[in-house]
Amino acid sequence: MAISRRRALQIAAGAGVVAAVPAVNHIRWNAKDFTREDYLTETAVKSPGKQWRNWSGIERATPQDILSPASEDELASLVGSTKTQIRPVGSGHSFTGLVPSDGTIIDMGRLSGLYAFYKASQTATFGAGTRLRHAAKILSDVGMGFPNLPDIDVQTLAGSFSTGTHGTGKTLTAIHDYVSGFRLITANGEILDVTHESHPELFAAGKVSLGALGIVTQYSLNVVPKFNLTRKLHLIKTNEIIDQIYELADSHRNFEILPLPNTGYSVVITHDIFDGDVEGREPNQDDAFIHDMEGLRSKLGWWPWLRRKAFNSYVSSELPKEGPAEQSTDEYWRLLATSRPTKFNEIEYHIPMENGLAAIKAINEIMNKRPDAFYPIELRFTAQDDAWLSPFNDGVRCSIAVHAPVNEPYEFMFSVIEPVMRKFGGRPHWGKLHSLKKDDLLALYPRFGDFLELRKDIDPQGKFLNSYLGGLFGESFDA
Ligand SMILES: Cc1cc2nc3c(=O)[nH]c(=O)nc-3n(C[C@H](O)[C@H](O)[C@H](O)COP(=O)(O)OP(=O)(O)OC[C@H]3O[C@@H](n4cnc5c(N)ncnc54)[C@H](O)[C@@H]3O)c2cc1C
Repeated sequence: MAISRRRALQIAAGAGVVAAVPAVNHIRWNAKDFTREDYLTETAVKSPGKQWRNWSGIERATPQDILSPASEDELASLVGSTKTQIRPVGSGHSFTGLVPSDGTIIDMGRLSGLYAFYKASQTATFGAGTRLRHAAKILSDVGMGFPNLPDIDVQTLAGSFSTGTHGTGKTLTAIHDYVSGFRLITANGEILDVTHESHPELFAAGKVSLGALGIVTQYSLNVVPKFNLTRKLHLIKTNEIIDQIYELADSHRNFEILPLPNTGYSVVITHDIFDGDVEGREPNQDDAFIHDMEGLRSKLGWWPWLRRKAFNSYVSSELPKEGPAEQSTDEYWRLLATSRPTKFNEIEYHIPMENGLAAIKAINEIMNKRPDAFYPIELRFTAQDDAWLSPFNDGVRCSIAVHAPVNEPYEFMFSVIEPVMRKFGGRPHWGKLHSLKKDDLLALYPRFGDFLELRKDIDPQGKFLNSYLGGLFGESFDA
């Protein structure tokens, strides 16, 4: 979130407030090292040329090759002739082990850009390695856009579609639902043009494929005329707003709520269509705010009452009494996505809408009992689509995410958070931390068994498997 006027928060986290409380607690808490034991910094990487790592650094690989083909033909002959396992990579922003391989990692970055645009049918064809922001800018230049975007936009089209990446909006589907066709290179190097008409099953399976069916080189997408939004950000006491999530999701195009652990407050962000002259986006201060929240945790985490009081005095002294803490108007793609330089690890589950309120309350309660927690929790809405592995293929779902700083422990996501998400009927985000395996997924997805059959048909030798996918699919994997 971008919240300006943070001076009181910085003061509260500083020595002034701390001096008023017993020194022994303060010293003990301040001496605490929050860093997890297995945290590896960049400098620990031995041979960077051969090393692949994901955005947060928890997934690493030393493959035989990392290749970046310049054309579809080059890629097709490479796939057909390569004897090792192959994994395609986008921008490496997934937290799960989808990409690591001891064989060949194929970086799709050079197959990017706009290949075709048809104004009359409102369709555009892009290289699969095109980043979302790049695609949105190109479309904007021709007066078009995507209906929605996720929280960041540096992911590739292929990477984000393949994991069911979503934004927020109860009437807005996840972004793979814009796909009207794609071109797939299969394990033997064959090039297939796939649409609902030509290959109905492969089309439904291939929109969210985890990169397990082959390598997509290009997508045809349904696009819409571009539009402007007004973005409003409010800080509201969690217990005064949390029961209204369904009404807010009904009354705003894009709605999300981010309860801030151990503060009693939530950030509420809405986006709605704006028809006037836009004024541009306020400078992004999310990172600075996260650092202030960390400062508050580090100084006052041992005393929850004082921490809440400090946050409360920040809200009452620095933020407007009426109206939003921030308001911007701009083109949709400049407002919906934000840059996130401060790294974290994340779990996210998609909960059936009817359980969303109970689930967010339960997760909020758990996080409020963890004095080390300071990263916002996040709740978003996504509409139904029909991809076989789309977490949203049985109705509207509420996505609930929990984050941990990149250098701090995240095991609690599996031991404490995941069981609650599962109790409420959640399906995991394919690109974020979870521990589910084949039997769990068969129970959650009616078409999961069909997906496994189709995968075996199209890639019987398992060229596109790695050990992580082997676990998800219940297939033995020999590197
Ligand atoms: C800071 C941050 C913010 C995020 N915000 C959101 C959010 O708001 N909403 C959300 O839903 N998710 C979010 N994510 C998760 C992210 O969108 C997904 O993990 C997404 O898959 C990342 O895209 P990528 O291009 O980095 O793909 P990668 O992580 O590189 O790959 C993802 C999958 O796509 C496959 N793949 C890549 N290219 C191809 C290809 N050409 N053909 C076939 N398969 C391919 C890979 O093999 C892999 O299985 C966020 C992640 C981070 C780190």
